[in-house]
Amino acid sequence: MTEREQPKLDDEAAFAGLAQAGIRALRAYDPGHDLVALRRRFGAGQLVELGANENPYGPSPAARQAALEALDGAHRYPDPLGGGLKRVLAERLGVTPAQLLLGNGSHELLMQFAQVFAGPEAAVAMSQYGFAVYALAAQAAGAPLQFAPAWAPDALMPRGHAPDALASVVSARTRLLYLANPNNPTGTWIAADALAALLARLPDEVIVVVDEAYAEFADAPDYRSALALLPRHRNLIVTRTFSKAYALAGLRVGYAVADAGLVAVMERLRESFNVNGVALAAAAAALDDDTHLQQVVSANARQRPLLAEALRARGCFVHPSQTNFLLADFGGDAAAAAIEAGLLQRGVVVRPMAGYGLPQCLRITVGTADENRRLLQALDEASKRTCSATGQRG
Ligand SMILES: *Cc1c(COP(=O)(O)O)cnc(C)c1O
Repeated sequence: MTEREQPKLDDEAAFAGLAQAGIRALRAYDPGHDLVALRRRFGAGQLVELGANENPYGPSPAARQAALEALDGAHRYPDPLGGGLKRVLAERLGVTPAQLLLGNGSHELLMQFAQVFAGPEAAVAMSQYGFAVYALAAQAAGAPLQFAPAWAPDALMPRGHAPDALASVVSARTRLLYLANPNNPTGTWIAADALAALLARLPDEVIVVVDEAYAEFADAPDYRSALALLPRHRNLIVTRTFSKAYALAGLRVGYAVADAGLVAVMERLRESFNVNGVALAAAAAALDDDTHLQQVVSANARQRPLLAEALRARGCFVHPSQTNFLLADFGGDAAAAAIEAGLLQRGVVVRPMAGYGLPQCLRITVGTADENRRLLQALDEASKRTCSATGQRG
């Protein structure tokens, strides 16, 4: 009896060989530092966590109460249609419940758009410094990626999405275009008229995802949500999340608004109980607590320019931001790495940007006044030895 040569299934590479083509070369999303270990090291409440664009003010008390009450029903499956939350959302947004898709965080939906619409023959377009999840979604679906160059570092909207470049990268084989507005990690935004003009230029067969994870924080006069463009563009999907301004990142709820027909196709792939009952209840209650949202948004609006100014005073180039974070350019890869390490040593977590091809930058969440003060103090200590920031753009 001759034995066929068997692959030895003894490591990740061996199993990757059995995976679908798109998964073979895939690298898992990098969530940043091991915060559990860091909290243990620095003590609870001592670590200054400014690496994940979370909301430092915590959830609405009403959302917390609703979550606690929902726990009494934890032995039941949640509403598979998320009807309660969809009704509140629909009323708020002026759309029908059939136009809403709920996700276990918007991350889940961003991945599923590619599973549904992209593939080896259906390419995905995105901007150079677009959110990392879009590339991951495309790769997982085995879809070719089409990268549009971003604005130059010294442009009016440094490293932001360039609508003309995005329109030019779209070809006959493009099926999906992802665009965050405002964008993570740059914090930059596309003005309302430029976004409307871009959508008007794109063919109907290109599904356009406008990811508005940070929309609640945006207050620039030229920024507007793409929700208003939905009636004109049936190929448009707008995604939102409860993870940022609503401070429910740990519960995982996001949603998409789109044409009811598009939503129905997406529903074919959705896991029936993808959003849990505690999260559904908390999200609906959070949506009703306008006072809390306004407090969070105005606190961020106060702190953001103060932190940006303080970083500029220390020689960084700070990208304009409509979000709850700042992308700071330290003028050199080694300088940024040394600062990041120095901050971490002092219990301050920020986000390194080498994964985005921006090793000279760090992304820093706008914290509370106290957190920002501790960040700046640690930065001053860390840069005593390492400061080589140029204070110049680029
Ligand atoms: C944080 C973020 C999200 C939200 O992710 P969730 O899965 O909803 O927590 C989506 N898009 C961008 C660009 C983000 O930065």
